[in-house]
Amino acid sequence: MSTHKPLKGQRAIVTGANSGIGKAVALALGEAGANVVVDYLFDPEAAEDVAQQIRDNGSQAMIYQADVSDEQQVQAMFQATIEAWGSVDILVANAGLQRDAKVVDMTLAQWQKVLDVNLTGQFLCAREAAKEFMRRGVEPSLSRAAGKIICISSVHEVIPWAGHVNYAASKGGVMLMMQSMAQELAGDKIRVNSIAPGAIKTPINTAAWDTPEAEAELLKLIPYNRVGDPEDIGKAAVWLASDDSDYVTGTSLFVDGGMTLYPGFREGG
Ligand code: NAP
Repeated sequence: MSTHKPLKGQRAIVTGANSGIGKAVALALGEAGANVVVDYLFDPEAAEDVAQQIRDNGSQAMIYQADVSDEQQVQAMFQATIEAWGSVDILVANAGLQRDAKVVDMTLAQWQKVLDVNLTGQFLCAREAAKEFMRRGVEPSLSRAAGKIICISSVHEVIPWAGHVNYAASKGGVMLMMQSMAQELAGDKIRVNSIAPGAIKTPINTAAWDTPEAEAELLKLIPYNRVGDPEDIGKAAVWLASDDSDYVTGTSLFVDGGMTLYPGFREGG
């Protein structure tokens, strides 16, 4: 168990925290001393398992079922957290999904679902977090900031992605939403940043890494020559949530093994 607790006493909500990156972020925040709300949609047992691991490490945790694309459910989750723990200090807006299709075959439902969860869901959560951070203001014993919002974006906020126009559009939207919120909220001592993961081994992209052949293809796109682990994102989230990054706002932190450096990679010369 780590003795370094930069988030001691802070209260975090992590959306989509029963799986993949959200799970690793929730565990890392808990390890860093934060109390964590483990938001989930479909799998309470997986969420409870994450919460129990956080408790075993000495922080508090509770699970909460909320669909991030539903305004009332998001508001109820923030209300329940504030009632239980007094306030919220950290939001990690992580929940996301893919509904892939070629653009000519993409249904409006596929387009809308991805935008609703990946972009509108992050807006709804960030809005509730910002309202609470502004209401409470800075608590110097906890943090130099009134609150921290971390959007989980993607390298596809800057790399176009054929066959996934709904997903790329949602993440491109997250980038400018994050930057605009950061600009608007900085005066209230609220920091807003994104983590833009590259290829990370989670259930969302199993087909891209679960056979040696698939992994070899993927590695051609990654200068650092390894596929990322969810823990790589957890560590970045702890840093962005802590006062160690107090002068950082409006930034996309690419955690991608150099994937965004790709054009020209391994082309010789
Ligand atoms: P994942 O394992 O499939 O996790 C996605 C999570 O989002 C699940 O916990 C899921 O809950 C939750 N979720 C989906 N729709 C939701 C909704 N409407 N309300 C609340 N929760 C919802 O995938 P992941 O890779 O960890 O993805 C997490 C984030 O990282 C996403 O935003 C994704 O775009 C981003 N990302 C991932 C990668 C990568 O390589 N893995 C790369 C770049 C960015 P249920 O399980 O209950 O459905």
